Amino acid sequence: MSSPTGVLGDLHRVLLSTEEIHARVSAMAGQIEKDYAGRLITVVALMDGALFFVADLLRQIDLPIRLVTLGASSYHGGTHSSGEVRLNWPSGVSFQEQHVLLLDDILDTGLTLAALHERLRQEAPASLRTGVLLRKNRPRAQECPVDYCGFEIGDEFVVGYGMDYQGRFRNLPCIGILRP
Ligand code: 5GP
Ligand code: MG
Repeated sequence: MSSPTGVLGDLHRVLLSTEEIHARVSAMAGQIEKDYAGRLITVVALMDGALFFVADLLRQIDLPIRLVTLGASSYHGGTHSSGEVRLNWPSGVSFQEQHVLLLDDILDTGLTLAALHERLRQEAPASLRTGVLLRKNRPRAQECPVDYCGFEIGDEFVVGYGMDYQGRFRNLPCIGILRP
């Protein structure tokens, strides 16, 4: 059983409230809708972290969307990137001539997004852009080009709104920092 106060009780502090997240995600949806007007978007969403972000974002975009989910992991359960990105590439999906928008929850070392970007580039899409809800303030994350970024945050391990620690806390409606 979790603590009597529920999942929020395990947080050291809230970094982004539910309201702040929703307002920013709505603004991002508006920008994407404007940029892709008249087009079909092929969204490639990285699971499981981007699940809630992508669900909230895509439901506010009034354009035709094809959704492809893809498993990628580099943390393998801890709070630091292992440096090795494992991809579950979908079979039988073509990205050729598609307007591909790659979405992830958070940009940390940038390894995951860079690996995916490179892999998708080889599929000859008509266009390829990237979007993340959060980007950490650390050199490698800052170097990685992103077209849509929700929030810039400090170099801290965050949980909630899809992001986990050892499989837990994804269902937190806000984003927070765990107790040490
Ligand atoms: P990167 O490859 O940029 O180092 O890491 C990206 C992936 O690592 C993200 O898709 C996310 O799943 C995970 N990740 C990076 N930073 C955090 C964090 O602060 N909290 C959680 N829960 N996951 C993170
Ligand atoms: Mg992830």
